[in-house]
Amino acid sequence: MKGYGAWSLIREGLRHHLGWGRAWGSPAPRRRYEVVIVGAGGHGLATAYYLARNHGITDIAVLEKSWLGGGNTGRNTTIIRSNYLHDPSAAIYEKARQLYETLSQELDFNIMFSPRGVMMLAQTEHEKRVWQRVAHANVLQGIDTRFIGPEEVKRRVPIINIDGPRYPVLGALWQPRGGTARHDAVAWGYARALDRMGVHIIENCEVTGIRTEGGKVVGVETGKGPIDCGKLALVVAGHSSRLAEMAGFRLPMESVTLQALVSEPVKPMLDVVVMANTVHGYISQSDKGELVIGGGTDGYVNYTRRGAFQHVEETVAALVETFPVLGRLRLMRQWGGIVDVTGDRSPILSKTPVENLFVNCGWGTGGFKAIPGSGWAMAELVATGEPGALAEPFALSRFREGRFIDESVAAGVAH
Ligand SMILES: Cc1cc2nc3c(=O)[nH]c(=O)nc-3n(C[C@H](O)[C@H](O)[C@H](O)COP(=O)(O)OP(=O)(O)OC[C@H]3O[C@@H](n4cnc5c(N)ncnc54)[C@H](O)[C@@H]3O)c2cc1C
Repeated sequence: MKGYGAWSLIREGLRHHLGWGRAWGSPAPRRRYEVVIVGAGGHGLATAYYLARNHGITDIAVLEKSWLGGGNTGRNTTIIRSNYLHDPSAAIYEKARQLYETLSQELDFNIMFSPRGVMMLAQTEHEKRVWQRVAHANVLQGIDTRFIGPEEVKRRVPIINIDGPRYPVLGALWQPRGGTARHDAVAWGYARALDRMGVHIIENCEVTGIRTEGGKVVGVETGKGPIDCGKLALVVAGHSSRLAEMAGFRLPMESVTLQALVSEPVKPMLDVVVMANTVHGYISQSDKGELVIGGGTDGYVNYTRRGAFQHVEETVAALVETFPVLGRLRLMRQWGGIVDVTGDRSPILSKTPVENLFVNCGWGTGGFKAIPGSGWAMAELVATGEPGALAEPFALSRFREGRFIDESVAAGVAH
């Protein structure tokens, strides 16, 4: 496989790009692997990558029921930030943000990480106090955020209307090193690196059953036949409850649809990410000029990937109020993803009642930003059988013991 260095790019440019090989292969599954990971979204791929990179385990299969990155990883609005309230959340999201900074170089694949800054607007007195509290917490956690006033908001985002009729902008939580990355590229970059390390990525291979013996996992049933494994990691986001059911236990989470929309492309007009949680809508401008807009979750459990129509209407109304210049823009498309939401809006990285079976889920509406950190922590859990400092607070046992990590405000999406 060719690297993507300057000489390769020049050579291939002169040859009409006919010499590039496939970025990852499509191997037939072997009968057994040391580790099987279900789900080739960002979290599953990152788990496999750090298992190989940090723990030297490469006898791994990542099984994907459809195409790699086709779940929420390829459907999100790509926002990366680490300005969460509680220490365990700040630690894992900041680990991820730091890994994102050098991920292009590490994977030799341009993930287009753009630390353009993320602004979370305060549009009520209550929200202002909340963001000020988060800013103070972030200082203690060593995370670079601060609360800025409405004048600085206006200076950084000239198209914003700070004197909105319902909710004037009273300030914002500003994280200058937050930003965006190209979501597909994150999945593709990890996949290509895994292929080079000898890890099998098997697409169109749905897991339909989980086999256990004496309380211990021994393998999975798939559309391509049975596969045995020493350890199994379920990393399937909105489908986690279904997979857990196959293994005979339940997860404290619900699956709902979260929507996003994108406008026609326009000239550069917005060079930061803005989240307006009170009116509910968040927005950034892609490299192609489209405005990438995030909506809300459905208020009822479903697996549709379409979502309720009124969310489009509500989101657009909220954004036009905050950014009146968007009023005449046309929307190009709208889509949804099935997100996995826990009661405290924090993820689950955990052992399970089944020996050697681990889960990584519950990232809900905000797991893209966490992909490298989550993969790092999950790899340690799978490799050693015990959680490290990053994963330990996110164990399933917290729901039994009442050690919730309530991030419903920092999660930033109404649900
Ligand atoms: C509209 C939208 C906007 C979002 N915006 C943001 C954002 O701006 N910032 C942010 O940080 N997060 C955001 N998120 C959340 C983020 O996308 C997810 O938390 C993250 O992508 C989850 O990654 P994952 O790898 O866990 O899941 P996924 O990418 O969904 O991967 C799970 C994979 O498992 C596969 N699978 C399921 N069942 C099986 C089976 N039985 N057998 C084999 N494979 C199976 C699926 O096909 C899928 O590919 C958003 C989500 C949505 C839907």
